[in-house]
Amino acid sequence: MKALTVKPHVKGSIQMREVPEPVRQDHEVKVRVIRTGLCGTDADIYEGNYGESPPGDEFLILGHENFGVVEEVGQNSTGLKPGDFVVSTVRRPCGKCLNCQHGEMDFCSSGEYTERGIKGRHGFMAEHYVESPQYLIKVPPELQDIAVLLEPTSIVEKGIDHIYLIQKRITWQPRIALVAGAGPVGLLAAALLVARGLQTFVASLESPDDARALAAQSLGAQYLCLKDILLADVPKKTGAPDLVIEATGKSPVVFAVMQMLAPNGVLCLLSVTGGSAVRPEPTDIINQDLVLRNNVVFGSVNAHPRHFQKGVEDFQTIEKARPGALQKLLTTRLPWEDYCQWFGQKRSGIKTTLEMGDGA
Ligand code: BGC
Repeated sequence: MKALTVKPHVKGSIQMREVPEPVRQDHEVKVRVIRTGLCGTDADIYEGNYGESPPGDEFLILGHENFGVVEEVGQNSTGLKPGDFVVSTVRRPCGKCLNCQHGEMDFCSSGEYTERGIKGRHGFMAEHYVESPQYLIKVPPELQDIAVLLEPTSIVEKGIDHIYLIQKRITWQPRIALVAGAGPVGLLAAALLVARGLQTFVASLESPDDARALAAQSLGAQYLCLKDILLADVPKKTGAPDLVIEATGKSPVVFAVMQMLAPNGVLCLLSVTGGSAVRPEPTDIINQDLVLRNNVVFGSVNAHPRHFQKGVEDFQTIEKARPGALQKLLTTRLPWEDYCQWFGQKRSGIKTTLEMGDGA
């Protein structure tokens, strides 16, 4: 079968190649891939900064944002049947640490986890993959056009879930949410926060007539263009945010938003910043503010299967409230043979997908 591969840590080694069809074990399901989504992690792997081949292989099949259709099931692969639409989770347990043993592989504490399409395990940019049903999320047919967004959504669902879990420490009635950054993760965060009934603001650099700004508004958030207002002045307009989600990919923003939290407020960091920026920051002031306001700042990566399930439920709610708004995030669809139009290129739009087959 065809697959899109890289040699990890070799810049520009991307190549479409023939690889053996995956062999399904009896407990596994074989899935035909319909589309995959592209994100900053794929770009980092392409650049040679990230990624790891499976043991014994010299290449890695890319792709972790995925959507496909079940083609074959085994006698022991219960719960799914051919024709079902599925999205696969990404991380697999190390098998050693306490968290992985408890199914919390998104909290793997040994660092020896694998991730499909990223670290030590082949991904979904191939005609087929096989997987154990416990890692597959069934997608209702009415969500098939937007289901490729479920993996990035799971990242945000986890962040929001943990904000609310952390805040069980007190009586908390958040009203104002701020999302920094209007990329796919920021916009999905805005959609989920609006769905939770929060007054939601998205602050980003794009002009108010940019597709990202318009998408934020169709999802029910208010858009603040950071060419018109300084980030530090945002709370003057919005009120001090009870929760902030940082999704700009720019680490200095983290320190700016730390200083604007409301008393008892929480900041969730979702950007995997790959750079090496060093900057002076007003550390005494930041520290004092965090202490005197009982603020929490935490980082969050990957997601538990329940966060994919919650994504499915939230997509159904959002589709009812704002039909077509999530679809607007999928701005560029490339036939997967045209992958060179994205990797190594200056990119526009919101989310680009590689179209690999149809749903029929
Ligand atoms: C993926 C996560 C993954 C993280 C770190 C992100 O792009 O969405 O599933 O855990 O990269 O590898």
